[in-house]
Amino acid sequence: MVLESTGTPLRATELPDPVRDPGQALLRVRACGVCRTDLHVVDGELTSPKLPLVPGHQIVGEVLESAGRFEAGARVGVPWLGWTCEECRYCRAGAENLCDRARFTGYDVDGGYAELVAADERYCFPVPGGYADEQAAPLLCAGLIGYRSLRLAGDGERIGLYGFGASAHIVCQVAVAQGRRVYAGTRAGDDESQAFALSLGAGWAGDALAGPPDELDAVIVFAPVGALVPAALRHVRKGGSVVCAGIHMSDIPSFPYESLWGERVIRSVANLTRADGDEFLALAPTIPVRTEVETFPLDQANEALRRLRNGELRGAAVLVP
Ligand SMILES: [Zn+2]
Ligand SMILES: [Zn+2]
Repeated sequence: MVLESTGTPLRATELPDPVRDPGQALLRVRACGVCRTDLHVVDGELTSPKLPLVPGHQIVGEVLESAGRFEAGARVGVPWLGWTCEECRYCRAGAENLCDRARFTGYDVDGGYAELVAADERYCFPVPGGYADEQAAPLLCAGLIGYRSLRLAGDGERIGLYGFGASAHIVCQVAVAQGRRVYAGTRAGDDESQAFALSLGAGWAGDALAGPPDELDAVIVFAPVGALVPAALRHVRKGGSVVCAGIHMSDIPSFPYESLWGERVIRSVANLTRADGDEFLALAPTIPVRTEVETFPLDQANEALRRLRNGELRGAAVLVP
C-alpha cells in the first residue's frame, strides 16, 4: 500500500521485491500495526517522508533472508527507529532516539504495509512468545514508546492517560501492574473508551479537559490535541509532569505562567532507543500485557486509517497481508 503524495489515499501497487542492503534482513510481513504517526504521515502533518512510501512501523515478520543475526524463519519485530549514525553527539551519549541522522521505518525507508520488507537487523527485536502476530504488532510502537513515556513520567502513584487509544490501553496495564492508580481521560461523552479503560484497571475515566477529582502526579498526553496540555498542567501537583507522547500535536493554547509554576514540567517523548525495546518486550509477557486489536486485510489500510482518524477503534488496528 503506497503513499504517492500526502493528503491522498494509499494505493494498492505491485512493487518489485525489496533489495537488501548489507546488514538488512528480508522479512515476510505477518502483521503490521497502524499507528497514529502513520496518519500524520499520510495527512502531511509530518512534512518530509520519502515519496513514494510504504508506511508502517509496527511490523511482525518472518525472516526469509538473514544478514547473520537471526535464523531464517525467526519471528522478529521492526520498530519506528530503523537506523542511526552511531557517531553524532546523541548516539555517543546513549540517546540514539535523538540521532541527527536517524532513519525511521515507514517514513525514511519503506515499512510494513506490504507483503515483504527489508530492515536493518540491528534495530529489530525478537518477538516474545505467547502473542499471536497481530497481537504482538502493537507492542512495537504503541507499547514501547508508551512505555518510554511512562518511564519519563516518573514514579508517581497517580497517573493520567489522556487519549485512550492503542498506546494508553497498553500503558494502563503496565501502570496498574506497577501498583499505580490510572486516570483515563477521553473526549467528553466517549462512554465506550471510558468503559474500555475501566475494564483494563483504570480507577477513573472521564472527560480529559475537565479532569479527574484527584490531583495527579503526572499526565501522559497521547491525543494530538494541544488544548490538553494546559488542562493537564492544571491537573498535576507541584513538581508534577506533563509528558507529550505523540510526534505531532495541534498548537498548544497560551496559558498563565501560574499553571507551570511550582516546578511543574512539560516535556515531549521522541522515538525510542533499542534499550527501550529490549526492556519493554521483556516486561510485557510477565504482566502479561494483553493487546486488544482489530485486524484488517492489507488492502483495507485506508479504512483502518479512516477509523483511527475518526476515533472509531477500540485498542489497535493491525493490517494482515
Ligand atoms: Zn508509531
Ligand atoms: Zn546519530
